[in-house]
Amino acid sequence: MTKALFREDSYLKSCTATVTEINEMGGIILDQSIFYPTGGGQPGDTGTITTSDGTVIAIATTVKGSTADEIVHVPAADQSVPKVGDTVTLEINWDVRHRLMRMHSCLHLLSAVLPYPVTAGQVSDGKGRLDFDLPEATLDKDEITEKLNAVINQNRPVSADWITEEELDAKPELVKTMSVQPPRGHGHIRLIKVEETDLQPCGGTHVKNTSEIGRVIVRKIEKKGRQNRRVSLMFED
Ligand SMILES: [Zn+2]
Repeated sequence: MTKALFREDSYLKSCTATVTEINEMGGIILDQSIFYPTGGGQPGDTGTITTSDGTVIAIATTVKGSTADEIVHVPAADQSVPKVGDTVTLEINWDVRHRLMRMHSCLHLLSAVLPYPVTAGQVSDGKGRLDFDLPEATLDKDEITEKLNAVINQNRPVSADWITEEELDAKPELVKTMSVQPPRGHGHIRLIKVEETDLQPCGGTHVKNTSEIGRVIVRKIEKKGRQNRRVSLMFED
């Protein structure tokens, strides 16, 4: 199991860790990590792992391992392999991660501005989208852009809270994303709260305040099949 440091503090840019295993695919497993593994529509982090002798290993992506609690750091091609037991220094590609955090947080706002069931979501560098189960509605790009930026400009705090599975079962309306149920089996589930805006289970990384998101625009609204509307966002700058 890897201790997921980003879950308590998404602003950590570097940390030290101990190599616990190199898996059969060459993936690096550590006792703790600041690298977010691909999941919940957010891509895995890139960055570097520096060994105790100063060798820098480029990490191409990060994924979940054989269990949900295991984080696998996937080296780029032709990188050296660290030794099990070595103390290494981790550094994430912060500029990319911060943009992912901003856009990911913005998708929470989008799900509040458009209060319809969400069937899928995806964040990439500088862009993000949600698919809504919305067969009838006509959506207006400019109107959604305006509403989103209004919430962003209200400097609303974003915070995390943990609840038990029993508490979540008592409030099924918290689960907005029909295709992605909150992870079960750990007893506790993390809720992300955007003050006066949104509350839902989420394992991703978020900014502390909506003002940090910056100005966004709705790029396009597409019809995806009979049931779905896809709303795509990007940063304005
Ligand atoms: Zn989230």
